[in-house]
Amino acid sequence: MAIYHLKYRPGKIADLDSESVRESLSKWLSESDGPRSFLFSGPKGSGKTSAARILAKSLNCLNKKGKDVCGKCANCLEIESGRSIDIVELDGASNRGIEDVRSIKDKAYLLPSKLDFKVIIIDEVHMLTKEAFNALLKLIEEPPQKTVFVLCTTDPQKIPQTVLSRLVKIDFKKGGDEELRRSLKRIIEGEEIEIGKEAINLVVEKSDGSFRNIARMFNEIVVSLGKKIDLADLEKYFSKRRGHYGYDELVDDLAQKEIKKILESFEKMAEAGVDFSGYRHEFLDYLQKKLLAEYGLGGEKSVLSQTEISKLMNILIGVGRYEKEVEIGQLPMEMAVVEFVAGLNGSGDLDKKEKKEIEKEVKEDKPTPDPSLDKEGKSKMVILTQGVEEIEKKWHEVLAAVKPFNHSVEAFLRAARPREMVKGELVMEVFYPFHKDKLEEPRNRQIVEVGLEKVMGQKVVFRCVLANNKKPALVIDNNYKMEEKKESLVETEVAGGDIYDLAKEIFG
Ligand SMILES: [Zn+2]
Repeated sequence: MAIYHLKYRPGKIADLDSESVRESLSKWLSESDGPRSFLFSGPKGSGKTSAARILAKSLNCLNKKGKDVCGKCANCLEIESGRSIDIVELDGASNRGIEDVRSIKDKAYLLPSKLDFKVIIIDEVHMLTKEAFNALLKLIEEPPQKTVFVLCTTDPQKIPQTVLSRLVKIDFKKGGDEELRRSLKRIIEGEEIEIGKEAINLVVEKSDGSFRNIARMFNEIVVSLGKKIDLADLEKYFSKRRGHYGYDELVDDLAQKEIKKILESFEKMAEAGVDFSGYRHEFLDYLQKKLLAEYGLGGEKSVLSQTEISKLMNILIGVGRYEKEVEIGQLPMEMAVVEFVAGLNGSGDLDKKEKKEIEKEVKEDKPTPDPSLDKEGKSKMVILTQGVEEIEKKWHEVLAAVKPFNHSVEAFLRAARPREMVKGELVMEVFYPFHKDKLEEPRNRQIVEVGLEKVMGQKVVFRCVLANNKKPALVIDNNYKMEEKKESLVETEVAGGDIYDLAKEIFG
């Protein structure tokens, strides 16, 4: 079966669903001595790469019809197939250094081998280093004769002003309802699908505005409902959609401090491939509306108070900065809900005196952690009789033992990998500095060490090192079931457990 978002990606200017993009592209491309360097700026899935290929066709089409490309000549077909050696597509995220730009430069100065114009497309161009941008700037200032640059970005603010000022900028936006309907229409006609207006509107309503995502979503709908789509079936489909966790329900669960249920729902969503970045953004929109409702500006009020809504929004915005760093998509959302519920419990914000006491004890306990000495300074025989393989084997159990105490620590461990034992100390690999910092915070360190001790039957100290390659973490999936191990491992189930319970257990 066809993959709609690829099969129906726009191939001509007329296919582009965004009216403003259609207009600016035809305007610039109709000039005989048009610009040589473009910036396509806009969110993911808004059609930047498709438009860049159309631009390449437009410069090279042998049989142009009016302002648009023919889509059928040898050049159009070669570009469409992605096989033309004169069309260079690069990802700025993985080619971000000055050497990479130098090699682009070498390519740019070679005359096109077959086509009239060479087109160099750099995706996510904002990821380039400063030096690379300087080199790129020189290239754009004196562009090679037969080369056109298309720089694409989701984050134009990160592009230096000097570079920006030399680019013709075309803004790509999320699709409006009409534009999204237009993009669906191409698929509906192409695949001969029977679907009524109201059902189409429902699909548009459920989409996140990305042309790519709506095509994917529609693909899934057709897979599950077939080519005759009835409104009632579609409604049922949406309400049952696997892993769907509505915001009303999420907020109710937050208010009830149902942290376990929430995290389990997130895990299901992760298995179903939900895009958590989109989910977080939509949740913010949802909360924004609830906040307006608090001020009597329409809509139903939330079960959360105005202060709670604001607090939750702040946390959600705050965790957004980790979105690009973490490999586990749901981690920022997990951190947000855990932090919010901890705040409701009052435990996220220990009062000063208690906080001091705990910190003092932690300090006394671990002056500078010397793995071979215990509290009293005596050697504590931490040389494990088991090696790192044993720990690897029982890693799931360690995660399960840690989880009731702190869900975020468990999530961090899930993205870590035990590497070796060095002088009785477990060395764990993590993939981001941010993980290392979090795991080595005194509170979190103790939680991990308690978990390790419970599972291994011996005290285990650890330290984190940054992995130099991005091997996958040992346990990156979310499929394991904590419940299976819980009884044997965790003597006391600490609902919404936190540092209090842990401190009690450690310090008596
Ligand atoms: Zn053509």
